[in-house]
Amino acid sequence: MQQADPSDSKANWNQRESVLLARYAMHSCDSQGREHPEHGHPYRGPFQRDRDRILHSSAFRRLSGKMQVFTGDMGDYHRTRLTHTHEVASLARTIGRTLRLNEDLIEAMALLHDIGHPPFGHCGEDVLSDCLKHHGGFSHNQFAMDLVTKIEQRYTDYPGLNLTHEVLSGQQFRSDKRNSETQMLEIQVVDAADSIAYDSHDVDDALKLGLLEWRQLDGLELVERAKRSVPLDSIEESLRRPLLVHTLLDLQMGDFLRHSSQLLEPVAGLTSQEVCRACIKLQMSPGIEQEKRQLERFLFENVYRHERLVEVRDKAAMRLRQLYKSLADHPERLPERARHWARSWGNERAVGAYLAGMTDRFCDEQYLLLVEMGRPCGVDWS
Ligand code: MG
Repeated sequence: MQQADPSDSKANWNQRESVLLARYAMHSCDSQGREHPEHGHPYRGPFQRDRDRILHSSAFRRLSGKMQVFTGDMGDYHRTRLTHTHEVASLARTIGRTLRLNEDLIEAMALLHDIGHPPFGHCGEDVLSDCLKHHGGFSHNQFAMDLVTKIEQRYTDYPGLNLTHEVLSGQQFRSDKRNSETQMLEIQVVDAADSIAYDSHDVDDALKLGLLEWRQLDGLELVERAKRSVPLDSIEESLRRPLLVHTLLDLQMGDFLRHSSQLLEPVAGLTSQEVCRACIKLQMSPGIEQEKRQLERFLFENVYRHERLVEVRDKAAMRLRQLYKSLADHPERLPERARHWARSWGNERAVGAYLAGMTDRFCDEQYLLLVEMGRPCGVDWS
């Protein structure tokens, strides 16, 4: 097969984007590039390469062993952190294509958005944040940056995945949302898709797991709106749940797209940077936004604080905290790689990073071996 000429490929790429993307999209030719410059690829654009680097990273694969809201021992129907990530990427790409934004950049940032979650979801994050409160704290968004700039190893000359400035700044924006300078439309789309995905699938999972009953949803405005679209009450239960979730997704996606399209109309002639400076905020219409907030408050009170989840989270928090203490008190028990980090970052942050990279099951195994059975040394992530 004849090798493609990289210079032709770049010209074709830019031409393709100039036809398909709106002016306010982030065009690949305007990318600020990578910390370590690279030659262009024969047939992939810079954001496609970022997407592939994230997809092929070990931290991404470990998302399959990390809980979203419900733990693995509660069943195998509900979302894991990995399936949630794919749902977010799918919704975000749909929005991006409809609004003529850069779909490759959106996909890369969507696949990255939850990669820094520690074991046991937000409960794990709270424990690590508390354990590290005198050592810089912990946030999953910041840990995602550490993973792709310091911890993942792919190249001989430097650590990390050498992602483009745009993908990194999108993730950095998630770490510090007060920084309005970095609000590219593409990262706003990922944020919106994340919220649309989890509000909808948490209803689905909670119903399936029996944490919610149908009657509890009565009176929720977004659910009532869904019932006006489809006759949910007259449909058999096995079909009612997927239909509700599908309708909730559709209502939120449709409204976000309609409202955001209207917001973008007056700025159609601006570039990506100009739209950032103008602080254009993509969002749903105020009515649906309010109904969505009501659903979120309901989920917070009735699902995330459900006694079955609280019990699971308390146990997980206890194990993670004891594992942290055991390793922080005896850093010589860290595996070699984490001892190497400790020399640069200090013991506490190295222990935090080692724990944050674990899957739920690996964390449980290490707790059993190191804390309960007193094994002398931990092992590196599998
Ligand atoms: Mg998410």
